[in-house]
Amino acid sequence: MRKKIIAGNWKMNETPSEALKLVETLKPLVNNPDVDVVYCVPAIDIVPVVNAVKGTNVHVGAENLYFEDKGAYTGEISADMLLDAGVEYVIMGHSERRGYFHETDEDINRKLLKALEKGLKPIVCCGESLEQREEGITEDWIRMQIKIAFKGVTAEQAKGVVIAYEPIWAIGTGKTATSEQAEEVCKAIRETIGEIYDEATAAAIRIQYGGSMNAGNCKELLAMPDIDGGLIGGASLKPDFGTIVNYNK
Ligand code: PEP
Repeated sequence: MRKKIIAGNWKMNETPSEALKLVETLKPLVNNPDVDVVYCVPAIDIVPVVNAVKGTNVHVGAENLYFEDKGAYTGEISADMLLDAGVEYVIMGHSERRGYFHETDEDINRKLLKALEKGLKPIVCCGESLEQREEGITEDWIRMQIKIAFKGVTAEQAKGVVIAYEPIWAIGTGKTATSEQAEEVCKAIRETIGEIYDEATAAAIRIQYGGSMNAGNCKELLAMPDIDGGLIGGASLKPDFGTIVNYNK
């Protein structure tokens, strides 16, 4: 049985003092022992949020990392810095980073290898544009993203990775994929992992859906057999996040 993982992606929202208020608001709402709960927060919020969630069930994640260990990379953050600050999870390959910051599949592969080498738990995002979906190439595109991202990753390492399937057309648009559409792609992702590795790795890896998941649609999405959680943007900044975490109650 794969444990569900519900992660908030706060993006570039919440100053450090706002972050502390949000943690307090969500504290009584996000208690569910059946679910791993993660807040992926802006870099400047990491230290205060790590301190604020101490003693709770909440894990802290970063929204990005750089693949070099240290040095002259102005503005970047290393895996060691994240670990030292108390971070456990790290998102990589979000479509906003691919789009606005020109991250390539090869960059994401290097980030994944570095995160795994250092012991961070990666959340690797993939997803197609509306144009790609309309052209009928969604699964081919996603299989390619996964195959490149996982180059050089061992089966044992892959079992601990979380993949987030996030159709770009559903992110921040209010347009959620239907549970059937989301399941179809998450199933194809699991099959791809089975092809790269083996059945045991495919059965172990957790796959999230992300894209306008909210308090109203989470139950149906999270009931699908290959959807092991959600990566939540907008709704992670509201009490709705608590409803998503408690989707099974
Ligand atoms: C995201 O950006 O990871 C995301 C899923 O955003 P939203 O929930 O706002 O669509």
